[in-house]
Amino acid sequence: MIQFEEMGFTPGILKSIKELGFEYPMPVQEKVIPLMLGTENDIIALAQTGTGKTAAFGLPLVLSTDPEMNSTQALILCPTRELCIQITGDLADYSKHTGNLRILAVYGGSSIENQIRELKKGVHIIVATPGRLIDLIGRRAARLNNVHTVVLDEADEMLNMGFLDSINEILEEVPEGRRTLLFSATMSPEIGSIARKYMNNPSEITIGTKNSSAENVSHNYYLVHARDKYKVLKRIADFEPDIYGIVFCRTRKETQEVASNLINDGYDADALHGELSQSQRDAVMQKFRQKNLQILVATDVAARGLDVDDLTHVINYSLPDDPEIYTHRSGRTGRAGKTGISIALVHLREKNNLTRIERLIKKNFKSLPIPTGTEICGKQLFNWVGKIENVTTGHKEIEKYIPEIKQRFENLDREELLRRVVTLEFERFLDDYRLGEDLIAPVPEKAGRDEARTGKRSRDHFEGDYTRLFINRGKSDGFYPEQLIDLINQNTRGAQIPIGKIDLMKDFSFFEVGSDHADMLIRTLHNRQYMDSRLVLQKAQEKSDKKDRTGEFRGKRSSKHPEKRRSDKRQKTERHYFN
Ligand code: AMP
Repeated sequence: MIQFEEMGFTPGILKSIKELGFEYPMPVQEKVIPLMLGTENDIIALAQTGTGKTAAFGLPLVLSTDPEMNSTQALILCPTRELCIQITGDLADYSKHTGNLRILAVYGGSSIENQIRELKKGVHIIVATPGRLIDLIGRRAARLNNVHTVVLDEADEMLNMGFLDSINEILEEVPEGRRTLLFSATMSPEIGSIARKYMNNPSEITIGTKNSSAENVSHNYYLVHARDKYKVLKRIADFEPDIYGIVFCRTRKETQEVASNLINDGYDADALHGELSQSQRDAVMQKFRQKNLQILVATDVAARGLDVDDLTHVINYSLPDDPEIYTHRSGRTGRAGKTGISIALVHLREKNNLTRIERLIKKNFKSLPIPTGTEICGKQLFNWVGKIENVTTGHKEIEKYIPEIKQRFENLDREELLRRVVTLEFERFLDDYRLGEDLIAPVPEKAGRDEARTGKRSRDHFEGDYTRLFINRGKSDGFYPEQLIDLINQNTRGAQIPIGKIDLMKDFSFFEVGSDHADMLIRTLHNRQYMDSRLVLQKAQEKSDKKDRTGEFRGKRSSKHPEKRRSDKRQKTERHYFN
């Protein structure tokens, strides 16, 4: 194994490396550093975050930047403000003993005037988010004509965030003879096209297996009824008293709801999503990093800026449609040589989604039984017993009360005293679990009918006409009125859509909407990706034309004509109002 000392760094940089406690180069550094220092090649490195890639490009960059020259010599583009700040801090650490290297982070959401002022003083390395850099180039504050190296960090994330045009524009601004490095967790056609357009015969490096997940992460799932998801999440948290994890949700609304419920139920939890202001997001991330929060409920986009190495769990409250996103999520645990647990809460339909992920990560998910109330109470109890065993005693403040407390408990025997203390400590759990009502994983054939009536929001006396719609989701998909409400609410913000009868079947459903809204709803939802496949939303046929159009409904979800099934299985229904 090659050592840092053999790589050609100056004594100043080696001193920084030592101070940072880096003893041996990490694999990405072993591969990238010699290429950067020994060749002029462009480089594509497929490496996840947490693999040591910042030092892989940062240490050679510091070496190749001349503090005596008063111009910008290197440019690093990255997707988020947090990553910008982090990279800038890392570069400052690497260059601590290397003269006065000026490194500046420029990103949106903070004063552009300050950034312009700093740029005017002269900056050797700019670390930027693409949008803000375009502004600064436009104002002639950032001058890139002496840049010899461009690093595109987390290129896949930048593309996901819609920065392709900005990246193209920026790359047109830097001298053609520069060297370009591209770091990405995944290789996609878009990345390939940037590489072809702006890179010169790049060397490609892959750290670990492409798209495979970390070795030390276990992948597990709980099969749950959609309506039980939150309860199961609570059980997981209760069963793992030392959990320090991120719960990933699909939407901001879901994120906020899950976090609010956890907070109300007494957990150290908070939400991180795009509707929060930057300062609120910073405050939440800070609390989480300092472990003042045990559970962070987040959307994928909002969690990008968060770099935490020692998560115990990643929980997929909702599985992402794109399996790649699952690898990003689960890759947040099991870092820095630790083991990690990735959990998915899935209902029946999402099992297909699991299979797609299994294919990508080349590992199987393990099905876990939902912890019973008794198991959870036992786990909590012994966790608490462990704390009693390990607590340090002898605080003066407490000692002075001991004699009086002893006297008060004189007539209680040891066992009764313990019983009372335990009862107090476990009130929340005992209340929740005393009744011994355990959550049952769903079984397709037995999907209960009663659920059809849950999720009702408010009644209304809508006098207009209704149009009856067919949707290719039913109870076996975990699709109940709540899911229908969410689906409509999330896609028709602000529209007051009257909803009439809802008939839930096993594999599909019918529901009525105010006729004025029917076409709009079909346009909005038909063909949209939902759960793991595309929605079919269309007007239900009248009985008279039913026979002719039966074929339209044929397929996996509806081997029988839905209207025929409806007559067999008509549910008791209610009128609902949405939004
Ligand atoms: P990164 O992938 O750049 O975010 O780095 C992940 C973590 O690994 C950071 O906390 C770095 O400080 C740490 N790190 C980077 N290189 C080394 C090394 N050679 N030895 C030990 N830790 C390292």
